[in-house]
Order: sequence, then C-alpha cells, then structure tokens
Amino acid sequence: MPDTVNNIRPVIRHLDANAINRIAAGEVVERPASAVKELVENAIDAGARRIDIAIAQGGKSLIRVTDDGCGIAPDDLALALSRHATSKIDGTDLLNIHTFGFRGEALPSLGAVGRLTITSRAEGFDAAEIKVSGGEMGSVKPAALTRGTIVTLQDLFYATPARLKFMRSDRAEVQAISDVVKRLAMAEPFVSFTLRDVSGGEGRVTFRADAQTGDMFDALRGRLANVLGREFADNAVPIDAERDGFHLTGYAALPTYSRGAAVAQFLFVNGRPVRDKVLVGALRGAYMDFLSRDRHPAACLFLDCDPTMVDVNVHPAKSEVRFREAGVARGLIVSAVRHALANAGHRASTTIAGETLGAMRAEQVEPRIYQMDRPSQGGLSASYAAQAPMFEDGQTPFDAPSARIEANAPTDTSLPDHPLGAARAHLHENYIVAQTRDGIVLVDAHAAHERLVYERLKKQMAENGVARQALLIPDIVELSDGDAALIIGQTDTLARFGVVVEPFGAGAIAVRETPALLGQCDVSGLIRDVLDELHDLGSSDLVQAKIEAILSRVACHGSVRTGRRLNGDEMNALLREMETTPHSGQCNHGRPTYVELKMTDIERLFGRT
Ligand code: ADP
Ligand code: MG
Repeated sequence: MPDTVNNIRPVIRHLDANAINRIAAGEVVERPASAVKELVENAIDAGARRIDIAIAQGGKSLIRVTDDGCGIAPDDLALALSRHATSKIDGTDLLNIHTFGFRGEALPSLGAVGRLTITSRAEGFDAAEIKVSGGEMGSVKPAALTRGTIVTLQDLFYATPARLKFMRSDRAEVQAISDVVKRLAMAEPFVSFTLRDVSGGEGRVTFRADAQTGDMFDALRGRLANVLGREFADNAVPIDAERDGFHLTGYAALPTYSRGAAVAQFLFVNGRPVRDKVLVGALRGAYMDFLSRDRHPAACLFLDCDPTMVDVNVHPAKSEVRFREAGVARGLIVSAVRHALANAGHRASTTIAGETLGAMRAEQVEPRIYQMDRPSQGGLSASYAAQAPMFEDGQTPFDAPSARIEANAPTDTSLPDHPLGAARAHLHENYIVAQTRDGIVLVDAHAAHERLVYERLKKQMAENGVARQALLIPDIVELSDGDAALIIGQTDTLARFGVVVEPFGAGAIAVRETPALLGQCDVSGLIRDVLDELHDLGSSDLVQAKIEAILSRVACHGSVRTGRRLNGDEMNALLREMETTPHSGQCNHGRPTYVELKMTDIERLFGRT
C-alpha cells in the first residue's frame, strides 16, 4: 500500500457539468415512470388544467407530456435546463415548500440521459423551443404553439447504456407509468389527465380522467371512482378530521371491501404522493380490529399540514417524508379512520350482494333443468327446503325442522322501515331472513352476535380500563440502554393497556403488572414485540391488539351458538342492535355479517327484468 501511494497519487478534480447531471439523474430518474412523474409534476406546478401524456415502448423510446399551464418564456428555456435552476423557491426557506418541484434537477437530469425537447409559450411571448441531447444543449429557436408546454423525452438512457440494461419489460414500465399518473390524478381531481400508448403508431388511450367539478369531497369521490373503480367509491366513507395542525381528508373503504394485498392504499402529504411506513402502519392500525392479518384496507388519504411540520427534502424522488411530530400524524389517522368506520355502523360492502348474485347466477351457465322436470333426490329436498318457510310451523310435511315461519312473527308494519328490516324466519338454526321495504336481508346470526358481544366488551374496557394483575415478583427485562429508554417513554400508554413498567438500572426495565386478560404471559417476549413495533412505526398498538384479540375470542365463546332457535323478538332485537352498533356489518374476521338483496336484484335472478 505505501509504495503505490508513492507511485500514483490520486488526483482530486471537479467533475464536469455533464457528469454531475448524469450522476444526479441516477437518483432522480430511476426508470421511465420517474421521468413521467417529474414532467407531470412540473405541469401541475405550472397550473395546468389539462395534462396529456403519450408514451412508447414503456416510455423508453418516447415520453411526451403536453400541458396548458403558464409556459416558459424563451429567455428562460436555457435556464430551466440548467442545474439547480428553479422558479419555485428562492432558497431562503427549504421548509416552506408548496410545489411538487423545488430542486431544479429534473430537466437537466433528463437532458443528460436522453434527448429532450421543450416547446413552450408563456403569455405575452412567442413560442420557442430548445433541445438538449446527452447533456449537449442547442440554441433557442422559434416554434409554433398556442399555449402551455410540450416536453418530449426520446431514447431515455441512451447516454447511459448501463442503466438501460436495468430496464424491465415494456409492460412492467407501462404499469409503473400508469401507477404514477393515477396517483397524481388522485391528488389533482380538478385537472384532466389522459395517458396514451403510441407504441403502435396511432396509439390508444389507456387511462382517462376528466376534470371533476363540485366541492373537494365530491370531486375526489368522482376521481376515485374513475381511478379505483365505482365499487371503491360506493364502499368508502369520507374522512375529515383535524388535530394539532394536521388535517386529514379522503376516503377509506369499509372493512368488508378489503384487499388481499396492500395495493389500494394511497397516501398523500400536502398533496404529494408518498410511501411512508409510519402512515401505512397507522392505516393498518386503524383497521386492525376488523381485518385478519392477510387482508389489507383500501383507502385514499390526504394529510395536510403547515409545510414546516414535514420535511419533504429527504429523498431525491421526494417519495418519502419526515414528520416533526410523527406521533400526532399517526394518531390522527388511526382515530379519524376508526371514527368514520364506526359511523358507518352496520353498513357492509355493496359488493357483497353483487358477489352473492354472481354465485347464484353462476349455475345458470349450464342449460337450465327445472326441478319439476325430473327431480333427483337431492334436488327434491333442496327445493322443499327452499319452500319450507311457506308452511306453518309444525305443518312441514318433511324433515326440515329449522326452517319455519315465525308463528309469533311481529306484524308491526313499521318494522320494514328499519335498515335491516323485520325478521321473518330463522333457517338452519343460524340464518335470519328479514324483509325490508325493497328487498330481503340474510343475516349470519352467529357472526353478527359475535361482533355485538365483542363491541360490548370493548366498550366496557374503554369505560372501566383494562384490569391489571400484579406480578408476584416483577419481571426484569434486559435491553439495550436505547431500547429501555424507548419503553420507559411509553410508560403511560402501556399502563393504559395494563402493562406497568419502570426503569431498572442501566439497560433494564421492571415489569410490575400485566393485563389480567392475558393471564400468564411471556413478559419479555411481549416487551420485545412492542419494541419491534416502536422501532418500525414509532408507536405500538401491540398490547391493545393482544387484548382485543382475546376479547374477540371471549366474544366467540359467549355468542349465540349455531343450533339454538331464536324467536321473533330475539331476532328483531338482534337486527336492531346491529343497526346501532358500530362495525356490526362485519364479523371479527372482516367477513360480512349480512347480505342484502334488493327486489331488483331478486327480479334479475329470475329474469324478470
Ligand atoms: P423544479 O421543478 O424543481 O423547479 P425542474 O428541472 O423540474 O425543476 O424545472 C425547472 C424549471 O422549469 C421550473 O422551476 C419551472 O420554472 C420550469 N418548468 C419546467 N416544466 C415546466 C412546465 N411544464 N411549464 C412551465 N414551466 C416549467
Ligand atoms: Mg420539477
């Protein structure tokens, strides 16, 4: 080593602008979708009302973004293409940022790794054009354009072939671009967007979202219906809550409209799409009580705050943020979403009825054979069972004891006005059939009752606190100094859920009491799990989750066992309690507790419409 130092002395030199831009591009422009993101954000920052995006070969050969925004004056074109040149901040306050862009890096980076053409016209100026290719800038030339800006990026990464090798298939890139455009479209419902794939010449529109009108909530609902589908919009509840300088708005889907993966979670901080562990964790926390581990909530949430409360300058692509008070942001999400879901009461997802109908109609794919034609043994009993409620109890001429009309069914005609209607029958010792004004409701009484008991237990716990048991000998848990401090910092929260801790010298804590419900539990395991969550998310719901899991199990044992026959009053009491109990539309595992079929659905089933 020493002799090489003597031979070759490393030379320190300044890199040229081209190399600097290419290095910056490595961070800003990871793939075609990141270029699309930068260009569309620029168009939004320019106040565009209409943004059209065209791509070819997954954005590798062409990305063109056309907007009707404020445009760039001819004299500013070269400036826009130079590094660290921006019209959006003056550099005095990096914490007070109201635009998507502020780093002044996107255009020079794109110009360093592809062939970039900007044609633009600002009000009061003639249209002009500038080209930059692999970092070589041309001169400003007159051009023809009535308003706004067209940015064309061809042959992305031709100047950095190594990066080109890392590109995925066109299809994967198209998908990523589509995701980027949809996220930005959600953030800007009043702007219209089109995405066109022009790979095959003419091109076809792959995504289109017209500008929405009305107030923010209507506009957002309309836009979400467009981007995520009408079903999401029909099954989502509005969120609007404020706390300590944070404002949360948006829509969160009912638990019964959950997904198998976290693919429908969209979070925005001050209008900027972000992927943030703390916020995603908070969303999961809000639904923890209604969804099993393998189901994921669907939501589109906007968190707004004074820009000084959040640092957006922590990631070159600005997809991550850092909060000054992450705990407040997180707490607001959990409480606002829980509250909104609670207000949704017994509502279950409308897709359930659709799925039910789908399942029923599926059989019709085969040629219909009416049971009258030639009843098989199974067909016979099935058809009797189906007709059973038409016989008075005791008169059933066959063996189907649990299907009967309620002899003492209430005749109160006002009952169908209740959302869940009037109970008419109890079938198979579990299912309640109720009649509503314009349809029927089928209730899984066992699942519904389980949920009602669980909600009652939780309410009791909230009112009376969590019962604690003192440990005979305090459990000493050895941790690192930092971890011990982290747990001690949560002393009050933990105590609320029945875990009493105190410092125990350097790097250790003493656990004095645990929740009575947990019985004999693995204290140090529990503390370590809580720590993992604290590290991961900045706060921990683990103890609460464990207690709620146990309440849920208790509820399961304490609820109506399938097999007991309910009378009319009992059934109606259950329906009325469901109507007034939060979250009763789904059982403790996120399955629906009832399905509703409207008369029109039923008529469709029989081909009457
Ligand atoms: P930043 O967005 O961080 O300012 P960019 O390199 O993306 O940096 O853009 C540089 C400047 O070019 C912007 O500050 C803006 O003034 C101008 N600009 C870029 N795109 C547009 C556009 N579509 N319409 C109007 N001006 C634009
Ligand atoms: Mg920009």
